[in-house]
Amino acid sequence: MPADDPNVLAFQDQPISQLLVKVAARCNIDCSYCYWFRDAAVYNKPKLMGADVLHRLLQRIEEHVIQHGLVDFPIILHGGEPLLWGVENFHLIAEACEAISFRTGCDIPIAVTTNGVLIDEEWLDCFESRHISVAISLDGPAHIHDINRRTFQGTGTHAAAEKAARMLVSRDIGVSALAVCNPAFSPEQYVAFFAKCGIANYDIMIPDATVDETPPSVAAFYNGLFDLWLAANRSEPTANIRIIGDMITALLGNNSPTEGVGHKPIELCTVMTDGSVEAHDVLRIAGDGSTHTKFNIFEHAIDEVRNEPRWQAARDASIRLCETCRQCKFMNACGGGYLPHRFSKANGYDNPSVYCDDLYAMFENMQSVLEGHLYISKPDGERLDVRSARAASAGGGG
Ligand code: SF4
Repeated sequence: MPADDPNVLAFQDQPISQLLVKVAARCNIDCSYCYWFRDAAVYNKPKLMGADVLHRLLQRIEEHVIQHGLVDFPIILHGGEPLLWGVENFHLIAEACEAISFRTGCDIPIAVTTNGVLIDEEWLDCFESRHISVAISLDGPAHIHDINRRTFQGTGTHAAAEKAARMLVSRDIGVSALAVCNPAFSPEQYVAFFAKCGIANYDIMIPDATVDETPPSVAAFYNGLFDLWLAANRSEPTANIRIIGDMITALLGNNSPTEGVGHKPIELCTVMTDGSVEAHDVLRIAGDGSTHTKFNIFEHAIDEVRNEPRWQAARDASIRLCETCRQCKFMNACGGGYLPHRFSKANGYDNPSVYCDDLYAMFENMQSVLEGHLYISKPDGERLDVRSARAASAGGGG
């Protein structure tokens, strides 16, 4: 696709719209599938973000929202394990962002993604008083979670994570859970566990893999999950499962809010503990140096990373799909799958997702089920279900 592709040009002037801030470059547990340590360069970074970096970062955030007239600018605190940064630093950044919001009128919601192991009452007070929303990594019940999410001594972390999840739910804190799908187990086990914990918002994410790998199929798992979601929500909403909601949103022709579903640019960048600015950090799944840029917040404004070839390559790849995807009937809804899942050493991101067959089967199943639930209202009040309307249209009828 040419460099002046309108799909790419349409997004070239959009400023960075959210920030992933790595406040800790180390973790306190040792998950087997973590992408963060696939690039050994993280060990060259300071373990924690220092006061000088935080101070400069806050200046850059204020400069960025003023320069681009942003009305909101979400910040996600991330790691490693971000709670290693300490509760005082969370208070500091939240208070400073509140002050920036007050001065600029730009809403700066703060979220954190944590493994939950360090959460105690002091953390809960901080999250609640500072309106910090929390996504806790929790792979469903213990026998699934503890397969991959273990301490450096090899013991499971489920007991601590579940306890933290229940503590979060007990307070006035925006809580969601992030699980990674293990298709060897049934979706019922995840759904029942989250219901038991009182967690109404969660995601069960497709495991990270590149095209150079051969991950197990996930279609049967997600088709089962969709059936469960549909049955549970038939009368009134009970649980919001992010990937299901996003896929339905995308199938109905709307923008899904998260980056893993749909055809849209990845406009996010990552600030590291030393103030260096990188492309989206999940792209380090592609190996050493894959997200590194020459930019840092001491010398550069946040938006300058958009001039960096590696950042541009990732952003352009998110909207410039391979030929197979461009011919696919689910191109707009699927968007080629999650960008890291399209990477291969031979072609870069110029591939369908390593999960292409699964994604196609999932969208096909979801579309056929949804069609049975959707109808078109005619001006005379008659209601036609979508399948009948399509058949009538194909037959030359109204
Ligand atoms: S289903 Fe496959 S071919 Fe279709 S858009 Fe998704 S990854 Fe591309």
